[in-house]
Amino acid sequence: MRYDYVIAGSGIAGLYSALMAREHGSVLVLTKGSIDECNTRYAQGGIAAALGPQDSPELHLADTIKAGAGLVDEEAARILVFEAAERIRDLTRFGVPFDSVDGEVALGREGAHSHARILHAGGDTTGAHIEISLSSLARMSNISINEFSQVEEINVEGGRATGVQTLDTRTNSRETFEGRAIILAMGGCGQLYKVSTNSEVATGDGVAVAYRAGAEIMDMEFIQFHPTALRLPGVPVFLISEAVRGEGALLVDENGRRFMQDYDDRGELASRDVVARAIHTELAKSGADRVFLDVTHLAADRISARFPQIYQHCAEQGLDMATDPIPVSPAAHYVMGGVRTNVWGETTVPGLYACGECACVAVHGANRLASNSLLETVVYARRVVERTLQPDTPTAAALTQDACALPAAEVTEAPNLDRAAVQTLMWDHVGIVRDGESLARAASTLAAWDAAVPTPMDRPAHELANLITCGRLTATAALMREESRGAHYRSDFPEPRDDWQRHLVFRNDG
Ligand SMILES: Cc1cc2nc3c(=O)[nH]c(=O)nc-3n(C[C@H](O)[C@H](O)[C@H](O)COP(=O)(O)OP(=O)(O)OC[C@H]3O[C@@H](n4cnc5c(N)ncnc54)[C@H](O)[C@@H]3O)c2cc1C
Repeated sequence: MRYDYVIAGSGIAGLYSALMAREHGSVLVLTKGSIDECNTRYAQGGIAAALGPQDSPELHLADTIKAGAGLVDEEAARILVFEAAERIRDLTRFGVPFDSVDGEVALGREGAHSHARILHAGGDTTGAHIEISLSSLARMSNISINEFSQVEEINVEGGRATGVQTLDTRTNSRETFEGRAIILAMGGCGQLYKVSTNSEVATGDGVAVAYRAGAEIMDMEFIQFHPTALRLPGVPVFLISEAVRGEGALLVDENGRRFMQDYDDRGELASRDVVARAIHTELAKSGADRVFLDVTHLAADRISARFPQIYQHCAEQGLDMATDPIPVSPAAHYVMGGVRTNVWGETTVPGLYACGECACVAVHGANRLASNSLLETVVYARRVVERTLQPDTPTAAALTQDACALPAAEVTEAPNLDRAAVQTLMWDHVGIVRDGESLARAASTLAAWDAAVPTPMDRPAHELANLITCGRLTATAALMREESRGAHYRSDFPEPRDDWQRHLVFRNDG
């Protein structure tokens, strides 16, 4: 089957680009689960845009660049903040019911933002509102949607992406779809880690298939760990949004002592890497496995109205946020790296585009500013579609001169090789605090697993193989980067180094 646009993924990136593209040609959306299985629907905090009276895109740009620790591409970030207001208007037009106060859009505050600029919907159910609005509209329109259709490989002919090969995850049958533009919108790889806020589908398929197709992959060492996920024995990881700290929540240890001021003048509203490492240090010192997020000094009705989902979830676990401090610890949350693109979402393979969390245009640099990822997704999804309308397409992003390749490895036995083994290895050796010895062990173990893993025949096997590829890219880049910067912290190289103010790019020329 042939379409103008073949889009892989049905989170905000896939659905938003589909809704934009439908005006310009036939559109197929492929998604490996049901349409709403994605990270998007779990987003709580919201989407950043400088709409407040004291705010401006320039201030938003300055905060984004500062958080990115020297690796933000300024042109890309400028596009992000200056196109924000228009994209918010699109989302509103597509039916996303952003919250308002007295007729004005309500703006929340989150860590490392100098101003209140986070739009939210349904309090802390922003992602669910976005996903429902976009998927309902997509279903009512002329977009073809294939659920349970997993992209296994990208077809490349004469150096150009021409289509994708898919696996029906219910019948294991295969199909090929051809397209004028192939758009990867397959999300992140948070399932790499044992403790993660991410949905089950976040297995890095987009990065892995793009790498196999010869596209460049960048910045994979930069994994963001969210400081505050609910920590209760036997209870699945559940995010407690940064917006809760934005409303005044305090971080305290088991004795009720506030500790963030010991690490950063911004206290609880320091950037995520700083807060996650501070908690990691406090836990290492005390031997405890959790600290506490305390909102008991805030009015109960304000908490339940602003964070209905979090309030309800805590209540279901027997915790009343109004009176009980919430036990929390860090969890893997977001990958700053991904398939390298230019500011039009073009990868280095002509005809192949990427947007959303699987893409990397370097707007986040070494550390993403809270609520900039939903914004990045819509800003760059629209630019992808705009680019495909220009007469000289398909072009491609320029190749990086000094791209690296993952080294080949010897085939060895890989006992008990499953997702949990990868997640434990990554959490223990490629986590919040890293060092050379540990990273080298992880990189060589993953290389051996990569060589040993059988040819995938079903969805779980594909996901395992793709996680191993992403784990190798992350561990290898983290080992090479002998410094600390943003979310990448090496205890053996605890400072940033000028000669490392550059990106690490991987390309599979074989
Ligand atoms: C708990 C949580 C809270 C968050 N809160 C915020 C927030 O408040 N603000 C913010 O800006 N960001 C937030 N983020 C990050 C943000 O939600 C994500 O970065 C964003 O939703 C990613 O959108 P996406 O469309 O790129 O990916 P996803 O929404 O993850 O969608 C990926 C899609 O690709 C599909 N897919 C994957 N592999 C394949 C394959 N092989 N074949 C076919 N389909 C495939 C998946 O099934 C899915 O449909 C949060 C993330 C989490 C996990």
